[in-house]
Amino acid sequence: MKKKRKLFLFFFTVIFSFYVFAVYGEKEVKSLQNISLQWPVPKDKIKKISSTFAESRLDHFHAGIDIVGENLPVLPVEKGRLLWKKNPVRKKGEIPFGGGITVVLDHGSFWSGYMHLKKISEKIENEINGATILKKEDIIGFSGDTGHSGGAHLHYFIYDQKKRKIYNPLALMPAGIYKNKTAPKIEKFAVLLPENLAEVDLKKEIVMSQDFPVYAQIKDSAEKHERWGVYSLKVYSKKNAQPDVDIVFDHIEFKNNKWRTSNGKAFEDVYYMNWYLLGKNFKRTRFLSLETAGYNAPEKIETIDMKIRDQ
Ligand SMILES: [Zn+2]
Repeated sequence: MKKKRKLFLFFFTVIFSFYVFAVYGEKEVKSLQNISLQWPVPKDKIKKISSTFAESRLDHFHAGIDIVGENLPVLPVEKGRLLWKKNPVRKKGEIPFGGGITVVLDHGSFWSGYMHLKKISEKIENEINGATILKKEDIIGFSGDTGHSGGAHLHYFIYDQKKRKIYNPLALMPAGIYKNKTAPKIEKFAVLLPENLAEVDLKKEIVMSQDFPVYAQIKDSAEKHERWGVYSLKVYSKKNAQPDVDIVFDHIEFKNNKWRTSNGKAFEDVYYMNWYLLGKNFKRTRFLSLETAGYNAPEKIETIDMKIRDQ
């Protein structure tokens, strides 16, 4: 009898755990995707998105989106609690650094952050961090170029603090204003030699004495937007085989002391400066195929018959 009850309890626990996982596990995964975020600047005031998510900042991923403009009213992407606001005091002659005037809101399953503000709105300037709830129509502040910034813009980010993941806002925002009808452009190729990066024409015969990493410069642009970063990149060096590179810039996450793409690549595994890594061992490669796309954009597929000659 005791044994039976134990067995029953065991099965009950197993089934209950599955139930909890099915209901809450899935809910957690869907939570961000299910929320309808609004643009942090009124749609009609968005003139240009100058930088997209995870593009190269020479030594780190750009962890948000830049909307160009000064004095643009900044709105919460979703109703949220004021988590903190920072108004750094600059000493005379000090070089500006960091995010400047910043506001971060807590939305429960994620945080949103707004940086380089010119000023914080009066409504929340005197509020205590952690207390005030901001509605979608409450103005947080106005865009500016405080902190380390190359011109007036709003940098905003969407962060899951529990999972330490920063999401690509363009994958979560309403795509209405975001028209991207053109495929990315593959502009140049280069090999990284011990001393320098040397541009090469991969369509012509090149001589390689050893395996050097090969890179490409790829640019994407869209209506109202000027961008560097692509949304996805796949590189094949063999026909009908797994890709050598397979990255989707949907989020970056902090793992093993580094920010990494969703498939675990650190910055230096993806870029050299603002060049995309295509592969490290192309000496014997006779084929190269690149598939890349912007957000909501047509794909660009380029296939090259390589003529690499051994020295
Ligand atoms: Zn930025």
